[in-house]
Amino acid sequence: MNFADSEIVNSIMVEGGMKPVRTPEEASLIFINTCSIRDNAEQKVWNRLNYFRSLKKQRNGDLIVGVLGCMAERLRERFLEREKLVDMVVGPDAYRDIPHLLSEVEDGRKAVNVILSQEETYADITPVRTTGNGVSAFVSVMRGCDNMCSFCVVPFTRGRERSRPVDSVLDEFKLLSEQGYREVTLLGQNVNSYNHEGRNFAELMYRCSLIDPEMRIRFSTSHPKDFPDEFLHVVRERHNVCNYIHIPIQSGNNEVLERMRRTYTREEYLELIEKMRRTIPGVSLSTDIIAGFCGETEEQHRDTLDIMERVEYDLAYMFAYSERERTLAHRKFRDDVPEEVKKRRLAEIIELQQQVASGLNRQEIGRRHIVLVEGTSKRSEDQLSGRTDTNKMVIFDKETLQRGDYVEVEITDCTSATLKATALRKVSLTETAAESVTA
Ligand code: SAH
Ligand code: SF4
Repeated sequence: MNFADSEIVNSIMVEGGMKPVRTPEEASLIFINTCSIRDNAEQKVWNRLNYFRSLKKQRNGDLIVGVLGCMAERLRERFLEREKLVDMVVGPDAYRDIPHLLSEVEDGRKAVNVILSQEETYADITPVRTTGNGVSAFVSVMRGCDNMCSFCVVPFTRGRERSRPVDSVLDEFKLLSEQGYREVTLLGQNVNSYNHEGRNFAELMYRCSLIDPEMRIRFSTSHPKDFPDEFLHVVRERHNVCNYIHIPIQSGNNEVLERMRRTYTREEYLELIEKMRRTIPGVSLSTDIIAGFCGETEEQHRDTLDIMERVEYDLAYMFAYSERERTLAHRKFRDDVPEEVKKRRLAEIIELQQQVASGLNRQEIGRRHIVLVEGTSKRSEDQLSGRTDTNKMVIFDKETLQRGDYVEVEITDCTSATLKATALRKVSLTETAAESVTA
């Protein structure tokens, strides 16, 4: 989400006559886009800001530093007054105000705008994409969150949920298609809550999928609470909507889920997973898990391990619980699982996930997939990497293939994180979809 937001800020800056540079050392203005989701995300920002402070000193103050995003709202006083680290603090809904805030800084004042909006979606701003791979792009379709999970700071830092008009999303899609992008990820804190004047996410995704049949569509994130059949049918029926769903569980225990205010039970979640697998054969699933939430017992932790074994996620993002100010959990519960217990439980969760993922990856050996080439592999210039429809990273020899090509590959080997393959032929997404229907 922050990656997408930075591209919107890029656009506002370029419009204002600025030019992006490659390194902080070359810049006369530096923005750092921040995340408050867990304490370690915030720690990274403080470390980075200390480095920028040293740059500013070296230049006798001739450098403007601004903080954007979620930490801006939460910690503006600390940034501006106590630590005197920055000149500007801009919350996630105030990016249009940056040119005006900059003029205040140039006049020698500190500038702040952290007002949250009920409407802002930056729908009319075309993001300037300077750092992606030129193949995959993010398109933000909604902002904010109304769910109020008890552990989560997002509703406080990003404000109320609001959706972007369908047409503005479709227009951005058309532009990306013309620019040669091959994959778009539709973004929101909870994309299945998308609703613009009665149009829901299933309709939005369906209409996006018609724009360019050679453009893959992914989406992130979806909350288990409302998953209409219609949505699953679009994933199944449209060949270019990827068969991959990120469906955060957080915990496998009903009491913990209740304290987290997740609004579903373990049983309802498992039923939903079964429905997804029934409706979309071969669908791949990923999740988010929190270890050591307030009051979590050893037995409740084992319920999380148990549900992981039952579902067998292809991928998981796993975290130790990090208490956030203002959240319900902070006000109402005690962060009473000792740090070393959280760490040990998290390690158990990670180890189990690696075993599950290795097992699933081994089953892939001998199977064929269509991979979208994203670029050269990190390990070797002679190899390419890309992802399958099911979001698995695959590495194979370069031969005459290029970034942006769709390639049919056969999987030959694997680790818990990556598949290795032999490239068979360059293909078109539409043709292979037609072939598989005929088959
Ligand atoms: N809107 C998404 C989640 C966005 S935050 C959803 O509900 O699915 C991404 C992930 O960060 C969450 O799913 C959760 O696993 C984790 N997270 C959020 N707050 C956290 C906290 N206080 N401590 C640890 N992990 C947290
Ligand atoms: Fe946070 Fe819950 Fe909203 Fe996700 S759905 S952003 S976890 S409050």
